[in-house]
Amino acid sequence: MIAPGAALGVLGSGQLGRMFAMAARRLGYRVHTFSPERDTPTGQIADVEVCASYDDLDAVRAFASGVAAVTFEFENVSAAAAAAAESVAVVRPAGRVLHITQHRLREKTFLAGKGFPVTPFRTVGSLEDCHAAAAELGLPAVLKTAGFGYDGKGQRVIQTARDIPAAWAAMAGAESILEAFVPFEREISVVAARSHTGEFVHYGVMENRHANHILDVTITPAAVSGPVANEAAAIARGVLEALDVVGVLCVEMFLESSGGLLINELAPRPHNSGHVTIEAHATSQFEQQVRALCGLPLGSTELVRPGAMANLLGGLWQAGEPNWAAALEVPGARLHLYGKGEARPGRKMGHITALGATAGEARGRAVLARQRLADSQ
Ligand code: AMP
Repeated sequence: MIAPGAALGVLGSGQLGRMFAMAARRLGYRVHTFSPERDTPTGQIADVEVCASYDDLDAVRAFASGVAAVTFEFENVSAAAAAAAESVAVVRPAGRVLHITQHRLREKTFLAGKGFPVTPFRTVGSLEDCHAAAAELGLPAVLKTAGFGYDGKGQRVIQTARDIPAAWAAMAGAESILEAFVPFEREISVVAARSHTGEFVHYGVMENRHANHILDVTITPAAVSGPVANEAAAIARGVLEALDVVGVLCVEMFLESSGGLLINELAPRPHNSGHVTIEAHATSQFEQQVRALCGLPLGSTELVRPGAMANLLGGLWQAGEPNWAAALEVPGARLHLYGKGEARPGRKMGHITALGATAGEARGRAVLARQRLADSQ
């Protein structure tokens, strides 16, 4: 067990690391963060902010040797960097988990190989492959780069065969996958944690609405039937066990109108849909990450009250600083800002959480508070 007072290292320096650092500091740990940037969302909270390239393996080793254990908040750290950290420190989840989940093709191949339900897909390395894959899977379909994609970046929806050349060109020659378009009824996720002893906890099913491929609103609990909730949790448990995850992992899924579930993707870390756990559940996903990293018992995931989270994207800053007071007037609205300097459109700048007697009421409050920000522009 790594006791409070020790230093914990986080690779990456965004909002996920920031909220990890807040949870870790509350528990009495010190936090070191490593990324190529300065004055980062995590660095503003951490005790130590190391600024170096993830490819500088000497710097990664030096960073890892200065802390009791390392986790990450950014999954596109190279396998070599993860191995460098693992050569001198405990790294949780292991670099192997990172390696599989940072690459859609490896991830989907792993999941399909273990018998998990995934969206039908084909590997695409050329325009000809893309035509052939579209003929096999049918259209519409979604073309995605195999690596380094998030929030819909590196994705193109192909409606008809005429869209194929432009979609393939947008991948800029990168190894890609074509996925059948899933006419899902809803998008859901299960955030779960697993300890080094194999203890497993999950937060139940969150329901997620996306806008422009970016998460917009999450509610907990999702309005799904008991069998669907049980199946989703069983899939999450199976995935954490199959990957031998020690830490937090989120399974994003499509719920089909038939009631079937398909895994869309995995995030081997706390996830945007789990931010609502800070207020709505007994132990947040970030505290769970600290506990799993340090070999502490996992915390209760009990729902305190139904909750909802609305993301604040950079577009809200279009006409200058939003009127925070207008949002905070909404009863129960909790504002989280990530300390990012530049508000680019689509950039995740913060979120608002609200609780309610029902998830619908919570959603109404969170969305109203956000609307007040938009209206104040
Ligand atoms: P991803 O980055 O793969 O999570 O995709 C971002 C969002 O795009 C998802 O949450 C869905 O809303 C949408 N999307 C991605 N893949 C598909 C698919 N195969 N079928 C339908 N919608 C999709």
